[in-house]
Amino acid sequence: MTDATKSTTNQRIAVIGGGPMGLATAYQLVKDGHSPVLYEGAHKVGGMCITFDFDGTDIERYYHFHATSDVDFFELADELGLEGKMRWKNTKMGVFYNGVVQPWGNPVALLRFKGLGPVGKFRYGLHAFTSVKRNKWDKLDDQDAKTWVKKWIGEKAYDVTWKPLFDLKFYEYSDNLSAAWIWSRVRRIGRSRESLMKEKLGAMEGGSSTWLNALSDAITAGGGDIRLDSRVSRITLETVDGVQRVTGVETPQGGFEEYDHVISTIPLPYVPRILPDLPEHLLEMYRSRKNIAVVCVIAKLRRELTENFWTNVNDPALPFIPGVIEYSHVRDLDDPDEHIVYVPFYVPGEHAMYDETDEQFEARVRDAFKRINPSLSDDDITAVVVSKYRYAQPICEPDFMATLPNWNLPVEGLFVADTSYYYPEDRGISESIKFGRMMARALDG
Ligand SMILES: Cc1cc2nc3c(=O)[nH]c(=O)nc-3n(C[C@H](O)[C@H](O)[C@H](O)COP(=O)(O)OP(=O)(O)OC[C@H]3O[C@@H](n4cnc5c(N)ncnc54)[C@H](O)[C@@H]3O)c2cc1C
Repeated sequence: MTDATKSTTNQRIAVIGGGPMGLATAYQLVKDGHSPVLYEGAHKVGGMCITFDFDGTDIERYYHFHATSDVDFFELADELGLEGKMRWKNTKMGVFYNGVVQPWGNPVALLRFKGLGPVGKFRYGLHAFTSVKRNKWDKLDDQDAKTWVKKWIGEKAYDVTWKPLFDLKFYEYSDNLSAAWIWSRVRRIGRSRESLMKEKLGAMEGGSSTWLNALSDAITAGGGDIRLDSRVSRITLETVDGVQRVTGVETPQGGFEEYDHVISTIPLPYVPRILPDLPEHLLEMYRSRKNIAVVCVIAKLRRELTENFWTNVNDPALPFIPGVIEYSHVRDLDDPDEHIVYVPFYVPGEHAMYDETDEQFEARVRDAFKRINPSLSDDDITAVVVSKYRYAQPICEPDFMATLPNWNLPVEGLFVADTSYYYPEDRGISESIKFGRMMARALDG
């Protein structure tokens, strides 16, 4: 055992996963006087927020923005001395429907939208308004989301507005999603507003690297140890007098290291692989997790694609794309003449499309850009990178929490969680930070 695994409180603690949840867990442990060791399988921390050098711009592989409700993120940012680093924009939304981009996301846009009759518009607006105002979700928990949305807005408005999003984000799972989970997504964006007409979203100056670096520095400065390229292959357990407890972790590079506590924050579908000694009924619960992958294309353009930050794509001409995210409308880039657009393809990992080549995804995106903005040509697209994240989105079915093992497992010294655990909230940086800190505090009782 290295010195780094000895904490000032004499508890040897390993955190697995260096995404926002693992980092926040390790940070809180350091604050509480421990010296945790964080194991991250990749060459960099960040998880889904990981950043890279995109043709000279340090940026996230997958689009990330902040809503005004991300209070746990802002609290952490303040603690890290990053107050004043948030940059807010009044962002616009659009919808690509019937071959044209139309405004979307506010009452006037809804009234003017060419694609729905007055009754459909009224019902859609009422559903959005009540969802944003609503606070309680217990009655939505066991309802199916599609049925819930259709009941509010009607079949026709559903087909025009929500159906493409359900189909292109959740595929075969779209018939069994929790209404509470879908509601929480509507509410998050709906509440991030300056006024009824003005949406307000933000990014940190320098992007996610700013807070990821500050968080990593705070962990190491406080006595924690971050080990990169250190994929944990097993969490070891022993049973003494009928009680199962953690003994340590194994990595291909470091072999076995002894720990009193292990906190895993990696996506749940990986858990049976690294915890084969768990009781079979728990393993089965992890094995039955449903999860969607993402293939995300990021492109640099010489000219604007649209004036919108977010454009929903509800047009059958673009059958695989739920939306395009023009990131340069929320984060200022060093060169104001550059425009960065993300195009996510959400797809089950078992789907044949997930294994298609980068060139196939790039070709779809080039086609989409030219349809969305016919004045663009291929020459306007100066760089393209395609990235894949296998477990990008847990699928939350009705009564979701009942399908999950408790994060505080019946194994001494072992906590296991991922983004599923803050249901009905959707996966989010702020929520992962909140949950990670909560687990760290729970360790001390
Ligand atoms: C396309 C996309 C867009 C998003 N947009 C937003 C947004 O705009 N705003 C927002 O707030 N959130 C957004 N999110 C969600 C946000 O990124 C996640 O909620 C957050 O990153 C989850 O953090 P986490 O630490 O819980 O999990 P992850 O980020 O998944 O981190 C898990 C970590 O575990 C590591 N790991 C896996 N296996 C092992 C192992 N065996 N050993 C060691 N390490 C391992 C992985 O490499 C990874 O670093 C988005 C996500 C995606 C995919």
